Amino acid sequence: MPRTDFLPYALPLIEEDDIAEVVDSLKSNWITKGPKTMEFEKRFAEFVGAKYAIAVNSCTAALHLSLVAAGIGPGDEVITTPMTFAASANVVIHVGATPVFADINPVTMNIDVDRVKEKITPRTKAIIPVHIGGHACQMDEILALAREHNLFVLEDGAHAVYTEYKGKMIGSIGNATAFSFYATKNLVTGEGGMVTTNDEALADKIRVISVHGMSRNAWNRYSAAGSWYYEILYPGYKDNMTDIQAALGLTQLAKLERMQGLRREIAERYNEAFAKLPELEVPVEEGYTRHAWHLYILKLNLDKLKTDRAQFIEELKEEKIGTSVHFIPVHLHPYYRETYGYKRGDYPQAERTFDRILSLPLYPKMSAQDTQDVIEAVKRVVERTRK
Ligand SMILES: *Cc1c(COP(=O)(O)O)cnc(C)c1O
Repeated sequence: MPRTDFLPYALPLIEEDDIAEVVDSLKSNWITKGPKTMEFEKRFAEFVGAKYAIAVNSCTAALHLSLVAAGIGPGDEVITTPMTFAASANVVIHVGATPVFADINPVTMNIDVDRVKEKITPRTKAIIPVHIGGHACQMDEILALAREHNLFVLEDGAHAVYTEYKGKMIGSIGNATAFSFYATKNLVTGEGGMVTTNDEALADKIRVISVHGMSRNAWNRYSAAGSWYYEILYPGYKDNMTDIQAALGLTQLAKLERMQGLRREIAERYNEAFAKLPELEVPVEEGYTRHAWHLYILKLNLDKLKTDRAQFIEELKEEKIGTSVHFIPVHLHPYYRETYGYKRGDYPQAERTFDRILSLPLYPKMSAQDTQDVIEAVKRVVERTRK
């Protein structure tokens, strides 16, 4: 039987402990960056196994601040994947540099290292690999290329809280990693992000420029131990996290293991149900990664179906199942077409993949029945639309 109520594509898991911690922060009077933010930074750094973590107000800010701190600017080129959220490339433009795209491996949907090689020029200064859906990129190959050409490796880990690469947590590998705690991500603070790094000088610079470029942050100035005096070391930004957000970050991090177990369970049930249908291709988990299952991206074998992806999504909507698409290749957005002259055909793997993907609901709040409803709805749509 189809559902009667609509199953949203994504929902956060907010429980009593999350609410209590936020209320505690409100009652403490520390509502901007303060003790909870510093505690969250410390615990997050320990969790990913990085020396430093700087909490900010979004992954976009984390990416931007990292590029600024790495000294990337006008005249420089930064290579990233077209199969990502536009923020991964927008930040390159924010620092005055030029985003350059390298096509994807259609199986993992991550950036293809051989295509990266072809795009390196004397102007290339950095690579932004994106661990799409929570599946790690081939970091050894990317790091080797970066060493050879002296490139800064900034990982977009928006999907990769909990992802491992060869037993190492994402966040401990590249020069810097940017995480997102946006409402739909694996760990949520409403809006929020984090930079992790093992580079002390880079961490110090990001910390300073994330709060106006001031030599001392509010905690150091207004707490009993503080002093009123500060200096502006750089015309910085206002990108810091607040303690209200960090309160959520702390309780969410404490329950991450449980939430990830639930994500994996759902992904495994989907895999089991869909792997045998020739009309569908299920996501892979290569031996070198532990998937964080941020997204469950299903690929349609369009040659075996009478519908296209848009129609497939409409049919699922009629079955009361919410879905999404990750992502419209960045080079196909109007700004990128008009500014850089990109067109269809420039990144064939990303484009062909885009035409056949949809993301199914996958979040800890889903009940066993919700998961079953998605499976049955997808099967019904396949039955109705197979050739
Ligand atoms: C969500 C997302 C971002 C942006 O995260 P914000 O915290 O909303 O700034 C960046 N990159 C990818 C791949 C994302 O999915």
